[in-house]
Amino acid sequence: MALTISLVPQPVSIQYRQGLFQIKGLPPIQGDEVFHREIQVFKEQLQQNYGGIEAGAAAKIRCSKDLSLSPEAYRLSIEPETINLYAACGSGIYHGLQTLRQLILSEYRDGLLPLPCVNIEDHPRFGWRGFMLDTSRHFYTPDCIKNLLDALSLHHINRFHWHLTDDQGWRLPVPSYPLLTEIGSRRKNIKIPHHVYTGAGFYTEADIQDIVAYAQARHIEVIPEIDIPGHASAILACYPGLGCTGGPYQVEDRYGIFEDVLCAGNDAVFDFAAACFDALVTLFPSQYVHIGGDEVWFNRWNNCPKCQKRLAETGLSTARELQSWITVKLAKMLADRGKTAIGWDEVLEDTETYKLPKEVVVMSWRGSKGGIEASGLGHPVIMSPNSEGCYLDYKHYDAPEEPGNLGVSTVYQTYTMDPITPEMSNEAAALILGGQCNLWSELIYADRIAEYMTFPRICALSEGLWTPKELKDFDGFAQRLEVHQKRLDQMGLLQYRGYLGKTGKKRNN
Ligand SMILES: [Zn+2]
Repeated sequence: MALTISLVPQPVSIQYRQGLFQIKGLPPIQGDEVFHREIQVFKEQLQQNYGGIEAGAAAKIRCSKDLSLSPEAYRLSIEPETINLYAACGSGIYHGLQTLRQLILSEYRDGLLPLPCVNIEDHPRFGWRGFMLDTSRHFYTPDCIKNLLDALSLHHINRFHWHLTDDQGWRLPVPSYPLLTEIGSRRKNIKIPHHVYTGAGFYTEADIQDIVAYAQARHIEVIPEIDIPGHASAILACYPGLGCTGGPYQVEDRYGIFEDVLCAGNDAVFDFAAACFDALVTLFPSQYVHIGGDEVWFNRWNNCPKCQKRLAETGLSTARELQSWITVKLAKMLADRGKTAIGWDEVLEDTETYKLPKEVVVMSWRGSKGGIEASGLGHPVIMSPNSEGCYLDYKHYDAPEEPGNLGVSTVYQTYTMDPITPEMSNEAAALILGGQCNLWSELIYADRIAEYMTFPRICALSEGLWTPKELKDFDGFAQRLEVHQKRLDQMGLLQYRGYLGKTGKKRNN
C-alpha cells in the first residue's frame, strides 16, 4: 500500500495518524438522509468500475452533517474501522466522496482497500472552477458531455460553460425560431484528410434537461452561452433579415471570424434575443447566461443604413460603440429575467458612453489584461487567459504530431495560472470569481480527442483554483499526477502523457 496518499487537487491539510484502514471488498456506505443523492451518485460511479457497493447498517463510510463547515468544505477522517465524512451540505459531501473515489481508484486492488489513517480538511480557494466546451464547431453527443462532466467532478470542477452557438452550428432549440435547429444546426461537410465530418446536430429540450440534472447531481452548475452579435452565421443562414445586407448567408463550414454579424439597427434582433433568453431561462437554472460578445467585426455596421440610423439615435459616433449599446441592452433584458450576463472581455471596449452595468461578469480570454481592467472597474471576473494555459484547443507541447491549433498551453502553464495578479488591488482581487479552461473544437473532431486535450490540463487547473496558493508546488503535483493518471486510465479516459512544460523536466511518453 501507499504510505502517503496522492490527491489532485491537493487538499488544504492532510494529517497522517497511526494505523491502517483495511477491509475486504469496497466499504459499505450510509449517511444522513439529506445526502441521499450524493451517496447514490457515488455508488453509481463505483458501480461503473467495480460492480455493486453495499449500503446499510454495517456501513464503513459514514456521511454526517457538520454545520460548522463552509458550503463546499468537507472533513474526511479515515480510521482503522470507519471512514467518517462531514460537510454542511451536499456539495461538501460530494467533494469528499470524490476524494474517496480517487483513493479507491488508485488503491483498491485484489479485493482489498488498504488506506493509511488520515484526517483531511479541505475547502476551495475559488468558487468558480470552470470548463467550457464548444459544441458548435464539433457536435458532442449528450453521452460524451456527461462522461466529461463526471470526470471533471472527480477534480471538484463545479462550472460547465456550454458554448451552444457559433458560425458553424446552432445547437439550442428556441420554440419560436424553429429554423435555428432545422437549418442552423447543419453545415456542409468539412473534409479533413482521412476524415469527413458532417457537423450536424442539436440538443433537444430533453437532452438539455438531462445534462443539467446530471451536472447538478455532481454539483456542477451549467452556464449556457449564445454568442451574439458576432459569430452569427448560423443564425443569419436561418433568418437573413437579422443581418445588415440580407444575405445570402450559410452555416459556415470554414473557421475564422466572419464579417456578417447581427444588424445593430434592426429591432427584430432584440425580439430574437428575447426568445433565446426565454428558452434559456426555462432550461437552465443557473443565475448566469453568457452572451458571447467576442470578435465582432464592424464593417457591416459602418455601411448599413439601419445601423447608421441607430448611431444617430443613440448619440454615438463610431459603429464599434454600438457593441456596448447592444451589450447594455442584452444585460438589461437578462436582468429583467432574473439573470446575470457574462461576456468575453471585448464587452469592455468602447463603453465610455454606454457603460457596462457593474454586475456584468467579464471573462478574460485575451490574456489577463481584460480581467485586470474589469476588476479595477468593479466587475466580477473569471480568468481564462489563452496566453496562460487556459486554452485546451492549443497543443500540449510544441511538436508537429501533437493535436491542437493556434498555440501551446503546457500543463505547467495551466498549473501556474493564477486568477489574482500582482496588479490587482485587494478590492479588485475580491471580485475574482475564479478561473476556467476552454476547449474550442475547430480541430477536435472526435470525442476521444476532447478527452486527450482536456486531461491532464484540467487536473492542473483544478489544483490551481482549489488548493491554497501557499501549497501550490508543481513538482509535487507532477509526482502526484503519475498516480492520478492511473485513476483516469481506470475511468477509460484518453490522456496526454508527454512533456509537462517545466524546463528541465522533459520526459518521454
Ligand atoms: Zn445593420
